[in-house]
Amino acid sequence: MNSEAKPEPYQEDLALNFLGGRGFAIKILWDTLKQGTDPFSPENKLIFATGPLTGIGLPNSGKLVIASKSPLTGGYGDGNTGSWAAVNIRKAGYDALVIEGKASSPIILHIKDQTVEFLDAKDLWGKSSFEVEDQLGKKYPKLAGVVSIGPAGENLVRFATVVSQNGRAGGRPGMGAVMGSKNLKAIVIEGTKQIPLAYPQEMKKLAVDGYKELLTKPLYSFWKRQGTMSTVDWCQENSCLPTFNYRQGVFDKAEGINGFTMEKIKVSNRGCPQCNMTCGNVVKDTEGKDSELDYENVVMLGSNIGVGNLTQVATLNRLADEFGFDAISLGSVLGFAMEASEKGLISEKIGWGDFDAIKMLINDIAYKRGLGAVLAEGVRSASAVIGQGSGDWAMHVKGLEVTAYDCHTAPGMALAYGTSSIGAHHKDAWVITWEIKAGREKYDAAKVDHLIQTQLLRGGAFEALTVCRFPNGSLGFEFEWYQKYLQASTGHNFSLEQINLISDRILNLIRAFWVREYGDKWSRDLDIPPMRWFKEPLTEGPLKGSVLDLQKYNDMLDIYYQKRGWNKNGIPTKETLEKLGLADAASQLTLS
Ligand code: SF4
Repeated sequence: MNSEAKPEPYQEDLALNFLGGRGFAIKILWDTLKQGTDPFSPENKLIFATGPLTGIGLPNSGKLVIASKSPLTGGYGDGNTGSWAAVNIRKAGYDALVIEGKASSPIILHIKDQTVEFLDAKDLWGKSSFEVEDQLGKKYPKLAGVVSIGPAGENLVRFATVVSQNGRAGGRPGMGAVMGSKNLKAIVIEGTKQIPLAYPQEMKKLAVDGYKELLTKPLYSFWKRQGTMSTVDWCQENSCLPTFNYRQGVFDKAEGINGFTMEKIKVSNRGCPQCNMTCGNVVKDTEGKDSELDYENVVMLGSNIGVGNLTQVATLNRLADEFGFDAISLGSVLGFAMEASEKGLISEKIGWGDFDAIKMLINDIAYKRGLGAVLAEGVRSASAVIGQGSGDWAMHVKGLEVTAYDCHTAPGMALAYGTSSIGAHHKDAWVITWEIKAGREKYDAAKVDHLIQTQLLRGGAFEALTVCRFPNGSLGFEFEWYQKYLQASTGHNFSLEQINLISDRILNLIRAFWVREYGDKWSRDLDIPPMRWFKEPLTEGPLKGSVLDLQKYNDMLDIYYQKRGWNKNGIPTKETLEKLGLADAASQLTLS
């Protein structure tokens, strides 16, 4: 086996201009990936990036960004996950791991500080992420970081994730498939060093104070009870629950899958390292196995496909984690297949909520058999194969399946999906709760301003710091805490304006990456969410009949572009890029 590991020196410039995490990932991809690289070719890079706060032992800092050119979207792809691998990468003395090439046969990458080994993994190939962690857990210390892929990643399912800690999955846009394309089954990392800090004593005190502060937040105890699961009821009340492939906004069996039903069967809380909010709700599935539930996976494998029994949802979620699928995209392709079956567009019979048929189809997707092979390519590709108008209800943006918010009556959230950095994901800007309070019917500049601010904070700052956004977004843990942490960690006093500038730089470089990759296929239409929300009114509930207005959406998109310093096609202007210190991007794009 001809494999090598090469340490690169720390670059202060890179850290000051891009902070870490998503910032490092996009800068590395922009600088080193040739335009048009096949995501499954050895030349593609798979990046595991930490941030300046990762692993330090302060609230919610055990996160890792996993990034690559996406095989699902063809653009920039990333996801974050809580993992001991994040902590260990830093304790081993690194900020990021960049994997390139392809092993000639399945391997494990084992890193212990400066020692790197490429170990044979033939005996693990074909096994689930749970089995892999179990076996590696017997060989390596308890706190070693392990990330792995399941059969979905091995078989290059385009929405395969990287999995850690028995079901914490990251990298929705196919990061697990990129790992599979490199024949890399798992990474084990052990770090034994101290993470260097500018002001260690101050950090120690700030970290303890931060954990204590979180305990005082009014929503803390309810969060510990339900985590994100309380969103089921909120969405049901506000007609934005994905139901039967985003048709209804409400689900008659919502109570069967909500947070209170979950509380009755919950056996424990699970969470990311260094977190005292532990939002993973562990329940037993129909086979008595543990399954970790949150809002997104419950809804996409529940109401969106007509399953109203939480224990059955838990089984589907467990299967998703064992195979290493992204549960959101999985729920989306299943809902799409059910609707195609209902409409008689495919010969396979898959009824809404048909638990046994769903389990079989999930297996077929993992091993790319029959209809499963079509769905394994993602919903955009499946709709291109099936045709017959199915593109209108293939629920994706830029090829990434929509996460769990129906936007028939939420134009601001629709715009958040349309302009997100990776395709239809809410992590950059979860504006829907704000929007409904501010006036869901409005398509105005104030909404655009709020969206951009949220994108800078969540999609820029939190993804670059690589800390969890829930303390701030869900409990009101003030952003000033992170500025203090950043100073104690790096010695630099970053103002909010400086952090916003870095965020803007990162988000603009990501946009430039998409434009560079799509070339003459780039168009503003890529920033428009699925036509179902514009053409087909909600079919049930108090807001039955509601639909988005395409002209008003386009007007709002124009305002968004103008405020971002982008042209009418959503491409950053030369002036915008140069102002952000991205002259190289300005010179590579065809700009007007
Ligand atoms: S709040 Fe949840 S997602 Fe965030 S760090 Fe804690 S366990 Fe992880």
